[in-house]
Amino acid sequence: MKENWQAIDTQKGCCCHDSQAAFFDRAVEQLGLTVSQQELLLQSFREVSVQIPLKLHHDGEETLHTFTGYRVQHNHARGPFKGGLRFHPDVNISEIRALAQLMTWKTALVDIPFGGAKGGIAVDPSRLLVDELEILTRRFVQKMAPVFGVDKDIPAPDMNTNPQVMAWIFDEYSKFNGYTPGVVTGKPIDLGGLQGRLEATGNGVAFVTAQTFNDLSLPLKNAAVIIQGFGNVGSYAALRLQSMGARVTGISDVDGALFNADGIDIVSAIQFVQKNGSLKGFPHAENISNEQLLTQPCDALIPAALEGTINCESESGINTKIIIEAANMPVTHMANDKLRARGITIVPDILANAGGVIASYFEWVQNVQRFAWDRDTVQQRMEACLSHAYTDVRKLSEKSQVDLRTAAYQLAVMRVLRSVELRGF
Ligand code: NAD
Repeated sequence: MKENWQAIDTQKGCCCHDSQAAFFDRAVEQLGLTVSQQELLLQSFREVSVQIPLKLHHDGEETLHTFTGYRVQHNHARGPFKGGLRFHPDVNISEIRALAQLMTWKTALVDIPFGGAKGGIAVDPSRLLVDELEILTRRFVQKMAPVFGVDKDIPAPDMNTNPQVMAWIFDEYSKFNGYTPGVVTGKPIDLGGLQGRLEATGNGVAFVTAQTFNDLSLPLKNAAVIIQGFGNVGSYAALRLQSMGARVTGISDVDGALFNADGIDIVSAIQFVQKNGSLKGFPHAENISNEQLLTQPCDALIPAALEGTINCESESGINTKIIIEAANMPVTHMANDKLRARGITIVPDILANAGGVIASYFEWVQNVQRFAWDRDTVQQRMEACLSHAYTDVRKLSEKSQVDLRTAAYQLAVMRVLRSVELRGF
């Protein structure tokens, strides 16, 4: 185990999966944890990989494809495993393992009674028909059913998965276990979903951004904000930040980026994407490349797409005061250090995007209680939870003279360790 950690710094410092371990390593350095405590905290509780054969029908031809699905359950000392499911061609076990660990620290940091997990299928869902995607999802659930459960492991949406996918998961699981809405979160409202869940992660990102501007005595009004990724998280963060008075000067998706120094009308951009499926062709902004987007001067840069997009190669062109990690693991640890050396404040993923898992917790509580809160209550409680976590991180960072990420990890790791020891694993 220790050998792996050493290899991180020397050989793979710009790989995002290894960066996650490096951030952990750095945080626990000051905590005086033994090597065996570190091993216990780092190892996954369970890792499952399943084969999902599926017949695809394209251009009148039938072909058999075998997909691989994963679920990594990292730690459940503080409550049932919790974490998203992503459908993406790059999904692999080491990525899912790192993301599962991240979920353990995230749920502990915002102090909700869950552990950490992550899962996914290595597939490009845009190449499947809707019926094929539904069958693939249902087969994945059939194979994962023994490890899922309302008090065992509760999946949620992530990249390329949405309320419809969650509805199929709920239905497939309930066929064999009775009506169980609490087995998955991020469901449509009509199936026990939460008012405000869809926008919760993006709204939380905007809330944390506003707190950061306030702490740094920077005005959010008219501040230039650039957001990479215009899916669930990026689009709602953009919408909320614009409504708070920020100028969203740049946005992007997988097809390219848009820039307008006066600010892009986010409502129109969202409507455009709903109609056309992508930002490609959106008027009233200059088309630039995804690489160019990251180098435009701004007050806050918000990566909300894939992990590792801010790395040793892209770091030097970045021209911002603040980075808010809306995506999971968007900044590699070597890039992190260089950016910090340049005085850039980085708000870590486990804090910045935790609004989503907090809302998922509320959905699960309501499903278990057969009860529902209104949208304003959800928003207020989510912000209160984020605000506590933000204040805790800020105070520890000042007290221990460490960056926000190290402080966030230290708080989370100690909470998990205390639970592990109390339970006597
Ligand atoms: P999504 O699939 O809804 O959107 C992803 C967006 O990123 C899309 O606009 C896509 O076109 C874009 N994108 C993909 N590759 C890109 C590239 N190379 N350059 C620029 N844009 C690119 O996904 P999401 O749910 O918004 O998740 C985004 C990130 O936020 C992921 O890292 C995810 O793990 C994290 N996250 C999501 C949630 C949630 O509730 N959805 C919660 C916490 C963290």
